[in-house]
Amino acid sequence: AKRKRMGCAVYDVGFDAEAINQGRLSLTGELRQAVEENQFVLYYQPRLDLAGEAITGVEALVRWQHPVRGFVPPDQFIPFAEQTGSIREITQWVTDRAFEQCARWRSAGLAIDVSINLSARDLLGRELPQRFGELLARHGAAPQWFLLEITESAIVDDPVRALETVTRLHEMGFRMSIDDFGTGYSSLSQLKRLPVAELKIDKSFVMDMASDPDDMTIVRSVIDLAHNMGLSVVAEGVETEEVRGLLYKMGCDYLQGYHICKPLPAESLEPWLAGAGVQRSMTTKET
Ligand code: C2E
Ligand code: MG
Ligand code: MG
Ligand code: MG
Repeated sequence: AKRKRMGCAVYDVGFDAEAINQGRLSLTGELRQAVEENQFVLYYQPRLDLAGEAITGVEALVRWQHPVRGFVPPDQFIPFAEQTGSIREITQWVTDRAFEQCARWRSAGLAIDVSINLSARDLLGRELPQRFGELLARHGAAPQWFLLEITESAIVDDPVRALETVTRLHEMGFRMSIDDFGTGYSSLSQLKRLPVAELKIDKSFVMDMASDPDDMTIVRSVIDLAHNMGLSVVAEGVETEEVRGLLYKMGCDYLQGYHICKPLPAESLEPWLAGAGVQRSMTTKET
């Protein structure tokens, strides 16, 4: 009986492992299909420039419109895509779309910058800068219109290779940004060597800063650190008027969060931008 139970246990474990593997296999296949069949959608979240009281940029955020599962948020497939390697195709798709969209906005006279999220894995290959160069040419886009967001973990994983890729992208004219700042394990000496233009304070510190003195201290310190290093600083996850006021007093440069605007598809963003009075360099508003 004992042997039988053991056998049964072994069978259970084997079965579970197989079920998990099949789940992974099907998700891998589904992701590949998603890329081929264009099942992704790009949303854009505005960022507010506090000094000019103007919207000067948006962050591109990918969503998966799955034929059966429906709307899948990035936290549910990006980590998996990073493990399986399909993140490279997703980054390619996102960048292609974002360059095209930004070029379209620019030729319509909208002075909007676009931030694009890169994964650690994107920085490991050597082909990224060249691919980005080809995409810029294809859409007639200028690298100065874009900020490329990388995380601290991307630097920690392989500092030498990350520095190489980031330096190359910087030389091409892209601005680099450190996303989710404060949640990774990068050292200041690693940070100092990277040609980055801005730090984005992770939303976990920003969301409750009005009621949590520790969060408030962290946010203030990161703003000061960024400015002392000659970098701009963005607070993400701004959900209330109160937090917006605190960040304004602390001299934060840019705000992003539901209090400003949630991420929107391009066709909803455009009327929102018009309402927010975004500068149109080639048209004049009559009042
Ligand atoms: P992230 O780059 O830090 O993006 C900010 C996330 O915070 C977004 O979640 C955004 O919708 C959300 N957010 C914005 N304002 C607020 C707020 O006021 N409160 C709260 N609670 N959340 C807010 P989203 O779109 O679900 O994306 C999650 C993460 O997935 C992103 O975090 C990014 O790391 C990753 N991701 C999204 N798009 C891409 C992409 O195209 N490529 C890669 N590699 N990663 C992406
Ligand atoms: Mg980001
Ligand atoms: Mg991120
Ligand atoms: Mg973040």
